Amino acid sequence: MKRIVVAGAGGFIGGHLVKKLVKEGHQVRGVDIKPLNEWYQVSESAVNIVLDLRLKENCYHAVNGYNEVFNLAADMGGMGFIENNKAACMLSVLINTHLLMVSKEVGIDRFFYASSACVYNAGKQTDPANPGLKESDAYPAMAEDGYGWEKLFSERMCRHFSEDYGLITRVARFHNVYGPYGTYDGGREKAPAAICRKVIEAGITGKKEIVIWGDGLQTRSFMFIDDCLKGIWDIMYSNIEEPINLGSSEMVSINGLVDIVEDIAGYKLKRKYDLDAPKGVRGRNSENTLIRKYLGWEPSIPLREGMKKTYDWINDQLAGENKTRKETSRFNR
Ligand code: NAD
Repeated sequence: MKRIVVAGAGGFIGGHLVKKLVKEGHQVRGVDIKPLNEWYQVSESAVNIVLDLRLKENCYHAVNGYNEVFNLAADMGGMGFIENNKAACMLSVLINTHLLMVSKEVGIDRFFYASSACVYNAGKQTDPANPGLKESDAYPAMAEDGYGWEKLFSERMCRHFSEDYGLITRVARFHNVYGPYGTYDGGREKAPAAICRKVIEAGITGKKEIVIWGDGLQTRSFMFIDDCLKGIWDIMYSNIEEPINLGSSEMVSINGLVDIVEDIAGYKLKRKYDLDAPKGVRGRNSENTLIRKYLGWEPSIPLREGMKKTYDWINDQLAGENKTRKETSRFNR
């Protein structure tokens, strides 16, 4: 049994991680800046604390008395958020910096940092038929402006805390993670959840149309949350000292992703392309030679299978919201 702190426990990945760790019998302290009623999942068996981890003294309260830290806290979202909130994204540097400083001070045994495929050089992502980004493609650096630069800087901070102070740090570069209990509306949602929501809403309203950001030909790979959790755990307790890709290599275009969701929904929609919307790089995929070499494993849950679970969960949420809206309007009449 370990004593583990999960920073960002109120978020999508952090919430799932706390649930898994608690189930496995670990003693977990979950920390997030959001009020508890806004956490995606709250595990009753964990100690749940609301703190702003940009402040060093709060990091001390979060970490003291525990042995290991998973840092999944960041002010982030999909392209719509990170393209328009670069300063806010970069301020997450305070979270990782202060967590590292207090981890060193209190003698934390192991530290995990959630980095991102957004650290990769933009020049390597101009072709939709991207053969896959390998770890060395982060340099020479030309990361995603704002969010990606903060991730790259924080990766290096982890590296130097290891080299200079002996703190064991592990860094995974997540490639688009999706699944239930994540953001699906409000502006921070990412493509898989956004497309599920739009398709479901088009079904509810009967307006059989979907707006797609960009021309739909841009490519990505998407990793289901269960693969992500396994990868986080295996990387944390591995000997991998360099940042490593944690992503699926099943590449799909945004049009292809819409095809999958329409297939799950059982209807087709008219596609309207918003060419002025934020669309990110042209082609991105995860190259998994290194993770296969180190762990003998790579994320492999098929996109169709993960999207079905995600779609069903979002469908339930929207059905619930719809019911509440109808009940409220009946009450107010
Ligand atoms: P999320 O937004 O659902 O969760 C992040 C959590 O961090 C949120 O609950 C937020 O309230 C919390 N947080 C933000 N500022 C904080 C602060 N000052 N103090 C304490 N908590 C704070 O995001 P997620 O999808 O769960 O992502 C988790 C981590 O993985 C992040 O570091 C993110 O950058 C990284 N990542 C995610 C993806 C993805 O596809 N989801 C891809 C690449 C990297």
